[in-house]
Formats: sequence, C-alpha cells, structure tokens
Amino acid sequence: MENNEKLQNIRHSLAHLLAAAVIKLYPGTKRTIGPAIDNGFYYDFEFKEPITEKDLPKIEKEMKKLQKTWKSFERREVAADEARELFKDNPYKLELIEEFSKDGQTLTMYKSSEYFEDLCRGGHADNVSAIDPDSFKLSKIAGAYWRGDEKNKMLTRIYGLAFESKEELDKYLTMLEEAEKRDHKKLGVLLDLFVISDLVGSGLPLWTPRGTLVRNLLDDYVWELRKKIGYQKVEIPHITKKELYEKSGHWEKFKNELFRITTREGHEFAMKPMNCPHHTQIYARKQFSYRELPQRYANTTVCYRDEQTGELSGLSRVRAFAQDDAHVFCRFSQVKEELAAIWDKVVQPFYESFGFNLKLRLSLHDPKQPEKYLGGQQRWQQAESILRELAEQRSMEFSQGVGEAAFYGPKLDFLATDSLGRQWQVATIQLDMNQPERFDLYCINETGEHERVVMIHAAIMGSIERFLSILIEHTGGNFPLWLSPVQVAILPISDNQIEYAKSVRDELLLADENFRIEIDDRAESIGKKIRDATLQKIPYQIIIGEKELSAGHISVRTRSGEDLGTMEVSVFVEKILTEIKEKK
Ligand SMILES: [Zn+2]
Ligand SMILES: [Zn+2]
Repeated sequence: MENNEKLQNIRHSLAHLLAAAVIKLYPGTKRTIGPAIDNGFYYDFEFKEPITEKDLPKIEKEMKKLQKTWKSFERREVAADEARELFKDNPYKLELIEEFSKDGQTLTMYKSSEYFEDLCRGGHADNVSAIDPDSFKLSKIAGAYWRGDEKNKMLTRIYGLAFESKEELDKYLTMLEEAEKRDHKKLGVLLDLFVISDLVGSGLPLWTPRGTLVRNLLDDYVWELRKKIGYQKVEIPHITKKELYEKSGHWEKFKNELFRITTREGHEFAMKPMNCPHHTQIYARKQFSYRELPQRYANTTVCYRDEQTGELSGLSRVRAFAQDDAHVFCRFSQVKEELAAIWDKVVQPFYESFGFNLKLRLSLHDPKQPEKYLGGQQRWQQAESILRELAEQRSMEFSQGVGEAAFYGPKLDFLATDSLGRQWQVATIQLDMNQPERFDLYCINETGEHERVVMIHAAIMGSIERFLSILIEHTGGNFPLWLSPVQVAILPISDNQIEYAKSVRDELLLADENFRIEIDDRAESIGKKIRDATLQKIPYQIIIGEKELSAGHISVRTRSGEDLGTMEVSVFVEKILTEIKEKK
C-alpha cells in the first residue's frame, strides 16, 4: 500500500512536470488539472494552436531537461484573492478557486522551481530529480471536455505512462502491444462474431451466426449452473410505462440515459435500462408465504442506455446489451445461504473454467455518511457482517471498499485478472433493501404478518457484450473447445479425399450431432487450408491425404500447431467429448 502511494505521488509530480514543460514550450497555453491515474498521469490543456502526437517527443525531452532542476515541492497557503490574481487569465483555475474556497478552505500552492507553481492539494514525490527518467514516457493525446461535460470546451489531454522502474514500464509496453494484437474489435471481425453497421448505429452491435452461437453457449452455461440452485426463467417486455420508473426511482436516476418513447396516444414509455423494476412486478403478482421463498428469477435480456457517442467503444461500452440478470426475493434470514450458493455454485465455477483469477471487493457503506444510505445502521451492519463472514470463510483474496456500497445495500464485486494481467470488474451480487420498500414487497411469515423481503441482484457475466470483449482479449480468440463456433476443420489434401472427409464428418456427427464441423473443400493447398483454419482459431484440424484414406485413419493437429499424429476417428471422438464435457 505504501509503495502504491509513493508511485501515485511520483505520477502526480510528473503531471506538474508535464504542465511546466508545456508552458515553457507553448507560452500562453492554459493549464487546467492533472491527476495521477492507474498507469501514469495526464494533464488537460487549452492550447492556442492544436498540437499532435508528433509533438510529444519534444515535450517529453523538455520534461526530462526540467526534471534535473526540480527537487522537492514547496508548499504555501494563499488567500482566494491572491490565487485569483495569480490565475487571472485562466478561467479553468478561476473556476476551481471559486469551488475550493467556497467553504472557507485554505488554498495551497506548490512550487517546484523558480518559475513553476501550481494550485494543488499536495501528494508529491520527495525529489523529482531522483525519478528514473527512463521510467516514464508520454503516450498519447486525446480530446477531453472540461470536467467531462460535453457542454464545456474540448481540451487537449496529454497522457503519460509512469512506473517504478524502466523494467516495469517496458513490461507494461509489451502488455499494451499484446493487448493491441488481441483487441476484440479487430478479432471480433476476423472471427466473424459481430458487426457494427453505420445504418443501425454505433454502440448497437449485430451478431452473426457464429457470434450468436457463442452468446447462446455462454448464456446456456450460466443457466445450467443457475438451474441447479433453483432458479426459474422469467421473461419481460423491453419497454415500460413511465410510472414504473417513477416508483422505482430510476426515472430520476437514469434520466439522461433513458431512451424515451411517446406513443401516438401521448403516453410516455421508456426502453428498459435495467430489469429489476419489471421483475418486482412478477413477484408482486401474488401474496407469497414464507414457505414459498426464495423466489429466484433469471432472465437474460437486452437493456438500453443512451450512452454518449464519444464514450462508445467496441463491445465494452454499447447502447444495447444483454444482461444475464437474476433477482432473488427472499427473507433477510435467507440472504447468507443465497449469496453463498450464487458465489460457490455459479460465479466461481464459471470464471474458473476460463482460467480467470478472481478477487473480491466487499463494497461497504461509509458509516460517517449515514445520510447517503437507505435504512438503519443496524440493518447495514447485519448485512455487511454476513458478506464479511462469507468472504472470510473462503480462500479468495478480498479487499474492503468503504463507501463503495450502493445506496440501497452492500455488494460483492468480483474482479477478474486476465491473461495479460489486467483487472476487470465482472460479476456482482448486490443486496437491495430499497426496491422492496418502494414496491411494498413482502411475504406472509410464520405468525401471519407481512414481512418485508430483501432483493438480491446477481448478474454473472454482467453484460454478454462486455464479457465477450474481455474473453476475446483474455483468450486471444482461442476459445475453449466447447465454446468455439467451429470445433473441427476437416482439410482434405486434394479432391480425391473429399468423399472420405465427408465420411469422417458423418462418423463424428453420429457420435455427437452437436459437434460443429467444417470441411474445407476449396481447391487450395493444404498449407493455405491449415493457415486459414489457424487464423479462424479452430481448435482441431483433421488432415486427410492418401495415406490416411488408405489406412482409414485421420491425422490431427491443433490450432497452436501441435501435431497429435494419426489416430482412429473413435479415439479422437473420445478425446474431444471429454474436453467439451470438462469445459477445459
Ligand atoms: Zn500537485
Ligand atoms: Zn437488478
């Protein structure tokens, strides 16, 4: 933790250095803010003349020159008036000064050299000149609205990468290169999984036959796990009257992201941005006795959010996405068992089967800000101690995020580390004490009274789109056999073996009609056929020539180029059936 803080301080100090270099090279540039981020730092500027990425080496060189003269940061407190005077030509800093000085807080300035001082709250490296100049580099520029608001001016953001050492930086750059090769936007097209059409619109991916197959297989897998712990499927329409969301509170909360519809009769409807309110109405259809609880509803269904065009990215951020959603309505006394079942019997096996390393974050409420949360302290403490107990009983590494809870309840957030070492937030299980209150959901308990129920939200993949973007990059498109759209490619060397190729296919299909097999009967060389099947990441390639034909065998190789030699078709069938069954 201490190391981490040190690195954040270095990154933040480098942001100051970047601003100083820019001001030196481009006098009259207006500087705004420059925080440390996960892999380095950035700084947002308003340039008089636009710059391009070609200018970055020059700026980086200037940073490294200035760096030698920078030691520690000198702190001083200033009155708001003095700060206004210092930044009188900079509307951005003036806006910050107004904000920071509003509650009578003192403003602080940090001086790092004779000619450079910045408004800042602190957190710097002890000695800037001691930072290894090879451990950081400027990486890219991007447009960024002032304060992230598209109504504001577009600024130029310069990004820098910074790590503890040159080795760490190099490791990161290698990872970026590999990530670039595995970019799901490129691989998705290469593997013919999805397409984004200009006519349909950005953020609205369309799924090809292969992509649809993969989606359905993933969804079936989650369902297979859920079914075992007593879930039932439900189905809902994709629109609703405004009243449902007014009651749930989502009309207010999602007001900027809702796709709204006005009917010809003038009624207001909306496309659903989530499924919880609809599902409450399925539960509310009748009075449940405590004996009938938990009620567990699973529903994979598309949600719609009006994301800003600039925020859209491949499958990671879209306007229409399928959630593998589920809601459990149960008594508070049943919460622990329900959570344990979802965790151990669904989340864990699902992510394990893809080789993701899972970590947990317990997202808890902040007891210092009780006004931010719904419900009494006692209920929160009970709920959180259940989650903590569950976490402590398992071997999974976990952290606690105080203040990370939703306003309606604490959460179990799962983080998956992929094969490139990147961390993604994936499954989430949330306790909700709010929706049951708003919709007056209860059961009849042992004494015949109305007892308020609790709602558990549990999405395993989250959205299939986002999960697939992670999975494509994690596997580099090399899906496990059970998930590969084409599992076996049969490659006859010449036309003479086409009939035999077909008989091999039929024999495979006779063993299991669900095998996904393609025969490449094009008049191409065997080398070309192997290359194409490999590019398609087809797990197994069966090569058939004269030798195989006369012996009645097959030769098998894998997409990684491993030669498995010749074997009987029945031996191959056994092998792949086991691999599919084990979901390896
Ligand atoms: Zn600072
Ligand atoms: Zn929900």
